This record gives sequence, C-alpha cells and structure tokens, in this order.
Amino acid sequence: MTQPDAAAPAKFKPYTRQTIVNARQWQWMSPELQEAVQVVSHVLPFRTNQYVMDQLIDWSNIPDDPIYRLTFPHRDMLPAAEYEQLRDLVLHKKDEGAINALVHRIRMRMNPHPAGQLTHNVPRVNDAPLRGLQHKYKETVLFFPSSGQTCHAYCTFCFRWPQFVGMDDLKFDARECSELVAYLKTHPDVTDVLITGGDPMIMNTRSLTEFIEPLLAPELAHIQNIRIGTKSVAYWPQRYVSDKDADDLLRLFEKVVASGKNMAIMGHYNHAVELRSPVAQQAVKRIVGTGATLRMQGPLIRHINEDPDSWAELWTTGVRLGAIPYYMFVERDTGPRDYFALPLARAHEVFQQAYQQVSGLARTVRGPSMSAFPGKVVIDGVVQVNGEKLFALQFLQARNPDWVRKPFFAKYDPQATWLDHLKPAFGRQKFFFEEEGGKADFHLPAGRVIPIASTPRQHNQRASDTQPTAA
Ligand code: SF4
Repeated sequence: MTQPDAAAPAKFKPYTRQTIVNARQWQWMSPELQEAVQVVSHVLPFRTNQYVMDQLIDWSNIPDDPIYRLTFPHRDMLPAAEYEQLRDLVLHKKDEGAINALVHRIRMRMNPHPAGQLTHNVPRVNDAPLRGLQHKYKETVLFFPSSGQTCHAYCTFCFRWPQFVGMDDLKFDARECSELVAYLKTHPDVTDVLITGGDPMIMNTRSLTEFIEPLLAPELAHIQNIRIGTKSVAYWPQRYVSDKDADDLLRLFEKVVASGKNMAIMGHYNHAVELRSPVAQQAVKRIVGTGATLRMQGPLIRHINEDPDSWAELWTTGVRLGAIPYYMFVERDTGPRDYFALPLARAHEVFQQAYQQVSGLARTVRGPSMSAFPGKVVIDGVVQVNGEKLFALQFLQARNPDWVRKPFFAKYDPQATWLDHLKPAFGRQKFFFEEEGGKADFHLPAGRVIPIASTPRQHNQRASDTQPTAA
C-alpha cells in the first residue's frame, strides 16, 4: 500500500438516490437537476462516490461536464412523456405499485439484454443453462461472479444495467466457480476467461482470489489469459494504491503472472480526465509493475466523449504509463440509447481524428467497433465504389471464426447508429453472415492448444520438455 495523493479520498464512500442528498455537491445542483436524479434513477441505476464527485467532475460546468453526464441520470434520458408520467408518480402520487409497473414497462422497452446475451451466449450442460457464464466467441468464456455485480459508480449508458436494478430474471451471475472450472476442463479450445460484471474489482482480494486461484490448476493449462473487466481504474483507482488490501491484490496479479499466464486487466476508461489524477496514474503504474497487462477500452458516447482530443490524450497518457489502447466501442443498442447514440459515420470521424493525433504505440487501438449479435464489427472507413458511397466494415471477432477479417460493405447511411440499421451494398438482399444463418462454430482442433510451463525452466531441463505436447 502506498500513499495516495492528498486530494483523493482514501475511504470509499458511495452515494445512491437515498444518500446523495447528504453530499455537499447536492446543494450545487439546480432543483431541475436534483429532480431528474430522483425521477430517472427509478429506471436506471444510480451510484456515484466521493472520489468521482471530488476529483473527476468539474461542478462549475454541470450539467455538461462529461463525468457528470456519465454518472448522474438526467431527464433527457427518458422521452418527455415518460418522464412526466414517472415524475408525477414519484413526486406526487407516490404510489409504489404504479411506479413499479411503469418502471418495468420502460425497462423492458430499453432492450435490457442486447446482442443475445441472455438467449444465445449462455452455455448449457445436460440442457441446463450455466448461470453466470457466457460463451460467445470460441476462445473466450465470460464469467460473472455474483459478488462482483456492482460497480464503484454506475455509468448512465451502461449496457449491463439490468445487473444492478433487481431484475433477477434478467440477471446472470454465479456464486462460486466450480461450474466454470468444470466447463473449462471440457473445453480445451478456450484460452481466455474474462471475469466481468458489474465490476469484479468491487470484491476484496480474498474473494477475488477464490475465483482466480482455481484457474491456475494444472488441468486448466489451456487457459492462457485471465482477464478482468473493470472500471475501478477510473472510478476508484485507490483499489490498487491505498485500499487496505491493495498490496495483496497486486501479489495476486504477480502470482498469476508467475504461473505463466497473462493477467490482463481490461480497464474501462471514458474520458481523459479519468487519467489525469495522480492516484489514477499511480494505479496504472502499480498494475503494470506486477507484470500484468492493462488495456484501455470504452464506448464513444454523445454528450460524454464525442471529442477526438480527449481520446488522443487518454491513449497517449495511457501508453506513457504502460497501458495499451485497445478498443473504442460504439454505444450499444440498450438503455437510454436515443440520448447517447452517435451515427456510425460520426463515430468513424471521431476515431480517425483521434487516431491521427497519436504515435504508433497508441495505434494498437481498434474502432469504432460494434459488439453486435453476430460479432464485433469495426467500421474501417467510408469509401466510393463505382460512384456509390459505402461503409467498409469487417469482423474483428465473430460467432463463426470464418467471418473474422473478411471485409464487407454496406450502403452509406449518415443516420445509422447500429449494424441492424445498415443495408448491404451492391444490390444484395443480405450480408454474407446473414446468408450463412449466423451459425456458430466453436470447434477447434485440440492440437492448437499450447500447454503453459507453470514454473520457470530449470537449468538442466531439456528444451523439448516445454514444447507443445499436443502439436
Ligand atoms: S462500470 Fe461498466 S458495468 Fe459498471 S455501470 Fe459502468 S459500464 Fe456498467
């Protein structure tokens, strides 16, 4: 544990709809902004913390400040009629039954589980779904530990928002990892486990260890990368610096690295301001100092980070500290999407303008990428073919591995904000992946799996001892 910068709070203090009125910043908000928080947070989850409010939000610039927009619900996130109806129920009629019914209706309208998360990605054993697991791409299994299904603060655009609002039937989580381990043992083609949420870093190190250590077992030698998806690097970087078990957490990362696996932190950043504070920078240095890797990813969101300069600063600072720019995503088709979505054409422009500003080391970033039902589709650019204006696209990841890196084209549409708004180019009725029916193929020959040497090679060990045995 090291000393955080003096300005950053050392003790984690969250605020919710019930407690935000006690924060000193509450008095700085106009009655309209206060009302919006009280009303809209019935539909979308609201949580922030003292660090976000003290260090990341510029209160002289609310409501336009990007981190205020990112963490505080506001009225434009609901259509005007819905807002008025809910406002009336919440502030005047105070009828719990009617509030719950309306809130449920609004939530169901918001496409709570986009991209087939609940229906197509859940693996089954003996025809029973494995709760808390998703297996969409052949190499990677997602794992949702139940104790990691909250975050240090909530993002207003979050595509996993049903995880936080008590919609149990729409939730996926697992209480322990024995089913995960059993599933992985029978899937030697899986190389990556992504522990995600919510935010797994909300767990203390002891709990996290219970999920991670079983993945180091010799029978799981095919698991090469243990990834953790987290926003803590931005919302509570003290997790790696001054929390009482911060040092233990770093030792856990070192243990994974010493086992021969890659400990990959998938850091969720939305804006350059999140990497300006000394404690956020210390967190990056401490993570990469363990031998873990830290990749930076986040969605492009209207009102929050439609700013190439902010992305360029974020990636450049990250690279200087040892992180790797990874993805700029397109905002998903869920939640208050009308408020946050940007046309794909604009998303490409922002990405390109940011990319043009950074050195080759930051050009590891890919984007703008849509995590859509068939896979991750990146917009490569806007082109003219035979006088027709088109989007050039490709899959970076796909349900069917054969689709990856296969360029395809769609008619240029300046209003389109998601893959399903696009029409195929050249007079075709369907995109090639629609013609193939979206069939997934997870089969990978066993010979492709390279076992990991779990201990450093001894001086007298023969080189052939560490060669792939199944090749
Ligand atoms: S940190 Fe991630 S999971 Fe948590 S609210 Fe934000 S986007 Fe959602």
